[in-house]
Amino acid sequence: MDHEIPKVYAPESIEPHWARTWIAQKLYRPSDDATRPRFCLTIPPPNITGMLHMGHMLEHTEIDTLMRWRRMQGRDVLWLPGTDHASIATQLIVEQEIGRQALPDLEPDSAGRAAWRREGQRRRLAMGREKFLELCWKWKEQNGGTIRRQMERLGASCDWTRDRFTMDAAYSRAVLEVFVRLYREGLIYRGKYIVNWCPRCGTAVSDLEVVHEDRPGHLWYVRYPFEDGSGSISVATTRPETMLGDTAVAVNPADARYQAAIGRKLVLPLLKRAIPVVADDFVDPKFGTGAVKVTPAHDPNDYDMSLRHNLPRLEVIDTAALMTDEAGPYKGLDRFAAREKVVHDLREQGLLEKIEDYPLSVGTCQRCKTVLEPLLSTQWFMKMGDLAGPAIRVVEEGRIRITPDNYKKIYLDWMGNLHDWCISRQLWWGHRIPVWYCDACGEVIVGHEAPSACPKCRADKLRPEMDVLDTWFSSALWPFATLGWPGQTPDLRRFYPNDLMIMGFDILFFWGARMIMMGMKFMNDVPFRELYIHSLVRDAEKQKMSKTKGNVIDPLEVTEEYGTDAVRFALAISAAPGTDIAFSVEKIQSYRAFANKIWNAGRFILMNLEKLPEEWRGQLGEALRPVSELGFSPVSSLESLALADRWIFSRLHAVTRKIEEALADYRFHEAAYEVYHFFWHEICDWYLEWVKPEITRPGEGPKVSPAWINLARVFESALHLLHPFMPFITEELWQRLPHAEPGNSISLTPFNLVSERAADPVSEKQFELIQDLVISLRNAKAEMGLQRVKPSAQVGCEDLRWLELFRSHLETILRLSSFQALTFARERLDATVPGVRGGPIFTLRVFHEQPVDQAAELARLQKEKQKTEEALAGVKKQLENEQFLARAPQEVVRTVKRRRDELADQLRRTLEAIDGASKSPSG
Ligand SMILES: [Zn+2]
Ligand SMILES: [Zn+2]
Repeated sequence: MDHEIPKVYAPESIEPHWARTWIAQKLYRPSDDATRPRFCLTIPPPNITGMLHMGHMLEHTEIDTLMRWRRMQGRDVLWLPGTDHASIATQLIVEQEIGRQALPDLEPDSAGRAAWRREGQRRRLAMGREKFLELCWKWKEQNGGTIRRQMERLGASCDWTRDRFTMDAAYSRAVLEVFVRLYREGLIYRGKYIVNWCPRCGTAVSDLEVVHEDRPGHLWYVRYPFEDGSGSISVATTRPETMLGDTAVAVNPADARYQAAIGRKLVLPLLKRAIPVVADDFVDPKFGTGAVKVTPAHDPNDYDMSLRHNLPRLEVIDTAALMTDEAGPYKGLDRFAAREKVVHDLREQGLLEKIEDYPLSVGTCQRCKTVLEPLLSTQWFMKMGDLAGPAIRVVEEGRIRITPDNYKKIYLDWMGNLHDWCISRQLWWGHRIPVWYCDACGEVIVGHEAPSACPKCRADKLRPEMDVLDTWFSSALWPFATLGWPGQTPDLRRFYPNDLMIMGFDILFFWGARMIMMGMKFMNDVPFRELYIHSLVRDAEKQKMSKTKGNVIDPLEVTEEYGTDAVRFALAISAAPGTDIAFSVEKIQSYRAFANKIWNAGRFILMNLEKLPEEWRGQLGEALRPVSELGFSPVSSLESLALADRWIFSRLHAVTRKIEEALADYRFHEAAYEVYHFFWHEICDWYLEWVKPEITRPGEGPKVSPAWINLARVFESALHLLHPFMPFITEELWQRLPHAEPGNSISLTPFNLVSERAADPVSEKQFELIQDLVISLRNAKAEMGLQRVKPSAQVGCEDLRWLELFRSHLETILRLSSFQALTFARERLDATVPGVRGGPIFTLRVFHEQPVDQAAELARLQKEKQKTEEALAGVKKQLENEQFLARAPQEVVRTVKRRRDELADQLRRTLEAIDGASKSPSG
């Protein structure tokens, strides 16, 4: 290793090196010792089409922080990485790519991309399935590894030797096995039901993939005449073209207006079919006229009604959203053109009573934004009722703990209202459904391999099912399929159930709930014991990040510019459970400054250690072995330590415990704040300054002193606490410490280096009191404009113990406060005397020989008073802003409140000083 530690912290020159080293050394492979306690998380697999965004960066920062922490606690940690084949997303990208190659001259704007997709889709159908899948695999080889490379560079402590893909051979076997078993148990069936159909993508999409958009619409009132010519019933509809598929009109059975009409026949306008009036509780008498048209083939509620009343289901719109033969004269028209013509014809025939404006919630395709069409379609479904029961119970019973716990209720509510899941997709890229049809006898064959002949009629011409499975079908098996299931592998035995899963709320139902159902079904156990739902990363005003708003922060750009550690720390310290994160480049910059602080402190310590004699460095190396009552090697016992050492080790113990408690509850923000405050304000601002005379001679370099041992121990311990958040800078500095037995990596050493016995509340109290005195002295100097001189002061304190404490640390107090001399009095100094400041434990009176121009002093104080009042007003205003209080992270609110108290205190002191200055005889 290069001994000279660079003057400037340059993350770009250390991070890639360590990222490569960790991977090359396979550092994050768990051991094969199955008796060791383990900790396992299988990554939420990013899509192969994905590029790392801030949401991933947050998720991976949280996961990696916990994985590194658990590893340092001595667990055998497995963070299993992998990617998802992303059926529809990949197919669309490959189609678009084919289109782009065919039409290279188009602009890549939305019109150009749409043209590429159309052309790509046309060419896909022309080239056939096999050829297209070859292109998909090729695309995956060339482009599918982006996220993995990005994660490797960002230091994710995954076991890359266990990397999985949802379409690799072993994983595909697991998918096949699950399908076959569920089919044989009757939990998977084929049926004709209403599905959400995307006419552009040519596939069914699940309810969860529907994006609802609010759009203005209309309510058309149409008259349906009675067959016998005795008047008519008016019905209101938002989609008049679907009336061509009506097979009834329904009213509420309790609706007095329609009692006489129930059971009578109406003539369907335009097509002149006779349809009945039925009574059904589903009908809301307050909607429109209280009578509604029933279109079983194009509306899920109407479909259910058709089952209750045994009504025919006429399909009038096809999979391309064109009108069918059943639509008579409207056949071949696009659905929207058909709407116009239907409305036009109704008006001509005098059957259109009126039109009202009516806001609609229109279902659109998540992928291509096309308006979806509810269609009757033959699809494969999974029965959810039986599978949901155990998945509800394990959450109710706490066998899976969901954090934040409000998501538990959301989960349970949702699980209580499950529809059967449409698992087939009319796509090519994905897991083909393992079904073959015998057209000769109608037999449906489901199995692991393609049958050579029909088991029933021996016909050898069998037609394979062309549909593939919904991507979420395969990812639902992730926690066990990645570990080798259906094989009973050592990994499966050791790492299932996983200990933890972390995901965003947006996929709780797509994925989280289904993993729980599949885990209970196939492993008879929960897939993970804890489920943490992370927050969303938003901009500084808590607005959603989006390209159109131009407020997107690209994680690769900011990690490049400020270093991965700074970005990770900025995310962690903002990540309070259950609140969206207000993120900004400014925030990253302030934690980049923190990294600089760590680097500079490290550089100061390491460069001085370098200069110590060799035998001293050896002794230091021995001292850094973690074994004794202190947690370290027995060079000195606790009792023999000086106050500052007892204080810092006690603080180290307390801070370690707080961090561990916070991380166990996913309070990343608190854990990060603790270590930040400890490193910066306690180690650097106080401890290092306090011990400086013991370790260095000004201008001469380091002193040979045992104080180096304690400082090195404190510094190393802090690196351990920082490591889960900032893996790179801590590794770099740790590697440079003169350990007796250099280890591989800080990431494989204990998190907590200090023992319980270091806890010392008495020393903490004493140290804090000295801190108070030093701060009061510094403040007094500043207020009196004495920064450039060394004044003297009298300290009054009635408690002899404290007086003795101050006396015995006189040198340090004078040095840290830049005072000339202190005298002590066992009394409370009279607060009415000018220059006296009171505190609960001690009072202070500052003397100075410098002649003071009273008028100038008074003017200065008046100016200061005004400045302080303005600042205080600003802070108060901020704290009265309810939006700020509701939206800002707790840590920020706390800081602002602290600032308010400080300013109020300062103002009070300034007013006292003005009082004193105006009373003084020379004034
Ligand atoms: Zn679509
Ligand atoms: Zn057959």
